[in-house]
Amino acid sequence: MNKSIKTELEDIQKELVKNGISRREAIKLFAASGLLMTASSHGEAQTLNASSLNAKIVIVGGGLAGIATAARLKSMASSLDITLIEPNLKSATYQPGNTFIGAGLYQKSDVLYNTVDFLPKEVTFIHDKVIDFYPENNQVVTSQKEVIGYDFLVISAGMVLDFEKIKGLEELQEMYTVDESSKINDFFKNTMVSTVYNVNSAEQTWKNMQTIMEEAKKGKALKAIFTHPNTAIKCGGAPKKMMYLMNARLEEAKVRKNVELSLYAYPSKMFAVKEYEEAIIKQYEKRQMLWHLNHNLIELNLKDKIATFDKSWQEKGEYDEDLEEYEMIEKHEYVDIAYDFMHLTPPMKAPKEIAQSEVASANGWIPVNQETLQHVKYPNIFSLGDIAAVALGKTGGSVRKQYKIVANNIISAIKNEELQDKYDGYTVCPIITVIGKVMLAEFDWSMKPTPSFPLDPTQERYVWWLLKAYLLKPMTQYGMLSGKI
Ligand SMILES: Cc1cc2nc3c(=O)[nH]c(=O)nc-3n(C[C@H](O)[C@H](O)[C@H](O)COP(=O)(O)OP(=O)(O)OC[C@H]3O[C@@H](n4cnc5c(N)ncnc54)[C@H](O)[C@@H]3O)c2cc1C
Repeated sequence: MNKSIKTELEDIQKELVKNGISRREAIKLFAASGLLMTASSHGEAQTLNASSLNAKIVIVGGGLAGIATAARLKSMASSLDITLIEPNLKSATYQPGNTFIGAGLYQKSDVLYNTVDFLPKEVTFIHDKVIDFYPENNQVVTSQKEVIGYDFLVISAGMVLDFEKIKGLEELQEMYTVDESSKINDFFKNTMVSTVYNVNSAEQTWKNMQTIMEEAKKGKALKAIFTHPNTAIKCGGAPKKMMYLMNARLEEAKVRKNVELSLYAYPSKMFAVKEYEEAIIKQYEKRQMLWHLNHNLIELNLKDKIATFDKSWQEKGEYDEDLEEYEMIEKHEYVDIAYDFMHLTPPMKAPKEIAQSEVASANGWIPVNQETLQHVKYPNIFSLGDIAAVALGKTGGSVRKQYKIVANNIISAIKNEELQDKYDGYTVCPIITVIGKVMLAEFDWSMKPTPSFPLDPTQERYVWWLLKAYLLKPMTQYGMLSGKI
């Protein structure tokens, strides 16, 4: 594996050099941006005087954030007693790979692995889910009624797909991205609806795309639609990535002109950062892809292939003499859209057993200090990843920054020192615009592009495709899960 990573890195460095960056500079930048796979001083966790640190740490959720945090803590202080609780024996840490499955570029086996295979040595694994929290007593309770005490708790239980929010899909209830049961594909059988937010349905997405290509080849005019809900979602760029990938596949099959591609998205902007939004709009126009904002999917009639959206907009109301402005009134209208293919991005939420617990906020996420990631009410609880109530935090890229901060701050807390390490809101969304090119949208709370490399970040580039398609997966699985990158 290390050999293939080395080859990919060399390719990426060559590409950077082609883009006008010197070889020396390219290597330096890779290391500085934390993207380098080899153990650099940046990536290495500081090993502490192990015997001096004794604390029991319980981690709820063994996905990307949970395992990376466990590994980082263990490598910093091997004396720590760490228990990780996780209900899924399979894990898909490189969930971005699901978009590749959906476009026929990866197999399911490329993203799924056994959770325990990546568990750091000497971490106790409990195959169960936490269903209750008693933060005043420093205890959690699992579904098997096991009561587990802790000195420090890390909540990294991610988010689930919330099908109950859409009329017609209630039967699917709550589902994990890694849920491998046949439930979702049985439910959507022959409906031409699928989602890459679940591994099995990601496979179905590629089958559905192929069906559309076959139909289009017969000369039929078809409509493909892509949704984006009114809740927080993991990787906000993924609904668009699927649209770009379908566009690429249709072009390859020379049937693009027969298929209309339309995005129906709840957000009122194409992207929250102006520079990336402008770039995306240009890319959409160039590819004749359509978009409709302020459209939230509320109902699906699978039999007749009709999607109902709640379309909203603002209208001027009465003029307020005191405030010297018009009152703005939100208007709504239901819009029915017929489709032949739908890529569904389901609403998402925190798992309900956690959302309804003592440690969650009213909307279900874990309320933490945005910078230290320490719980706002319970100082010995930390949270990171998709479940943490952190603005812009729901990507693997944010986890890559957050887990080191949580590990450092827990060590400081054990030593009764001030929490020094702070998260700056960094997140990254590699937008695949075509098979072979990616726009690497990096930004933080400033809502300005924060590129790791001195290259125009609004450009679609082959070098970022190399990074996305070949390097990010081993970096995630072997770098982050061992607490190194
Ligand atoms: C289609 C798709 C595309 C994506 N694209 C990108 C991308 O391009 N770039 C990027 O940076 N990110 C991307 N992401 C997002 C990224 O994968 C997630 O942000 C990341 O996996 C979050 O890590 P996490 O540990 O918080 O959650 P997860 O990795 O989902 O892990 C959460 C774990 O908690 C467990 N759990 C749940 N409930 C409980 C409980 N009650 N008790 C114990 N354990 C529990 C779950 O079983 C799960 O294993 C994408 C995600 C998807 C689905």
